[in-house]
Amino acid sequence: METVEGLAPDAASVTAARKLARPGPWTATGYDERAVWGLCKGSGARPYQTQVDLSGPAYNCSCPSRKFPCKHALALLLLRARGDVPEGEAPAWVVEWQASRGERIWPFRVLERKDAVVPNGLHERHGVVEVLRRLAREADDEIGRERHARDRVADAAHQIEVLLAGMAPAHAAQHLG
Ligand SMILES: [Zn+2]
Repeated sequence: METVEGLAPDAASVTAARKLARPGPWTATGYDERAVWGLCKGSGARPYQTQVDLSGPAYNCSCPSRKFPCKHALALLLLRARGDVPEGEAPAWVVEWQASRGERIWPFRVLERKDAVVPNGLHERHGVVEVLRRLAREADDEIGRERHARDRVADAAHQIEVLLAGMAPAHAAQHLG
């Protein structure tokens, strides 16, 4: 529980999450080795789709809250911590989000790896590599912070791909120290 509270953006979010951390508002909850998810009844007709990728952790919720993580994600983690979420198979909307994250941030993941193979010539330009690594970390943070950040990250990823393509002789690659 302390862990969940440590993730909250403020005290009000913890209070709100505690109120929501009961089975009543939730349907279709589940967890697997990577994620926990569920549908939470809100004020609108459609329940919010809430999910947490525990490998980050990274959060995603269809509610309009600008808080990050939102109270729904925190409540879901509280429910999970209490054992109130059953093990299950991730539904399509969870699988799709995970896939879109992995896909869009692949250039950053590649650069974060110590044994990353980068185009020949780029390994000498450590300044550039450092900048890219910093962008990678910021982008990963941002994906979590803001739902709408994913498009911006996709743009950044595209720019990096263009940059890499422009710097590299196409025929060779070297290991980055
Ligand atoms: Zn939410």
